[in-house]
Amino acid sequence: MEMLATARSLRTAQPTPSICVTEADVDQLSRRNFLDHIPLSNVTNVVPFTLIALCCSYVAQGTLLAALLALNIAAVFGMHLISRRLRKASSLAQSAFWWRVYEIAAFASGVLWAATMLPVIATLGHDIASMFVCVIIIVSVAVTSMVVASQRRTVLSFLAGVMLCLIPQTVAYLAVIGPIPLVATIGLGPALVGLAHAIRKQERLMIRTQLENQQLAESLTEALAVAKLLASRDSLTGIYNRRAFEELASGISGDEPDTPLSLILLDLDHFKSINDRHGHGIGDSVLKETAQLIETTVGPFGVVGRGDGAVARWGGEEFILLLRGATLEQAAHLAETLRQGLAALCHPQWPEGLVVTGSLGVARWHEGMPLHLGIGLADTAMYQAKKAGRNQVSLSGEGPDVETAVMA
Ligand code: GH3
Ligand code: MG
Ligand code: MG
Repeated sequence: MEMLATARSLRTAQPTPSICVTEADVDQLSRRNFLDHIPLSNVTNVVPFTLIALCCSYVAQGTLLAALLALNIAAVFGMHLISRRLRKASSLAQSAFWWRVYEIAAFASGVLWAATMLPVIATLGHDIASMFVCVIIIVSVAVTSMVVASQRRTVLSFLAGVMLCLIPQTVAYLAVIGPIPLVATIGLGPALVGLAHAIRKQERLMIRTQLENQQLAESLTEALAVAKLLASRDSLTGIYNRRAFEELASGISGDEPDTPLSLILLDLDHFKSINDRHGHGIGDSVLKETAQLIETTVGPFGVVGRGDGAVARWGGEEFILLLRGATLEQAAHLAETLRQGLAALCHPQWPEGLVVTGSLGVARWHEGMPLHLGIGLADTAMYQAKKAGRNQVSLSGEGPDVETAVMA
């Protein structure tokens, strides 16, 4: 029943790949990538921190520089801790909260980077160590901006912190260091914002392509599964078709040598006259109801073994059943139940007086016997039932030398 329902619903399914990547999807993956890379980007800070630490003993206000450096390191560590909370955020609200905290921390980090310039800015022009510290700070600010480029608000917060602290310093020391640092600082902000924007755009494009490819691969896998399923089903009844049955049977044959296997071939009686008298629509409906009857009758019997069981539409008005674990007697019993079920079959849309009957042939399928020979035995038995007057079950070997005739 379930198999029929699946096959029917799949028949109407449209396995068309639909690609839909939203800005929110891109945001999500961009943030995940960003958080994944934070530990690595923190390591890049080790170099500038070490170089600045080495310069502390060469600049006039070395102690202040060391103190600011320590604060800077603490800020980076703090941001690292916030990023860990962000990874663990279990709800959207929690995540949004911790992102705001991260942006505030980025602002504070920007302020601290610029503040680290304070002990050396006055001696910028005539002290090589001060000059060196300034260059390291500017390079670090640029690198950090690039590292956080994918997160627009974070990069803007960081650069706002830098500018807010750096511009007043260059203005305050204008008389000592001249206008060039001020102009450079004012130019630095927009330049880094522009660069970060370009990097962000490129990264989002890559993420979008990655997500689209992922969705395409998923749609194709799904479409392939649907196509495979449809190719194995009979389009009218939803049960297996002949090709799928043959494939399934070849998988079953001989996999458990001690398990008996039986075949039942069912052919509807005078089906052509049902079509002729009541039309093909009613004929189709009879075929569908027969398939459903076979499905429901076979299920409770429990002789079909694993999975869906091998029940298929063999041809026009012929159906085949492969019963794993069923002796000839058990299969004959099932065939008789099916015969009676067919004779009692009715449908509200069928014309009054329409009686459906079938002739069934039952055969044992011996281990090592080619499938077509096993089916030949069931077929011969089924013709035996036809000859004997239809609407009956015939067993292979019961008629006049049926099995021997087929094997020959
Ligand atoms: P017998 O009792 O000897 O089996 O006679 P029969 O009429 O059942 O057998 P016959 O082979 O003469 O006719 C089978 C008919 O089944 C002929 C064909 O038009 C019809 N048929 C085959 N496939 C379909 C189908 O998908 N839908 C309908 N409505 N009819 C079909
Ligand atoms: Mg036939
Ligand atoms: Mg027939």
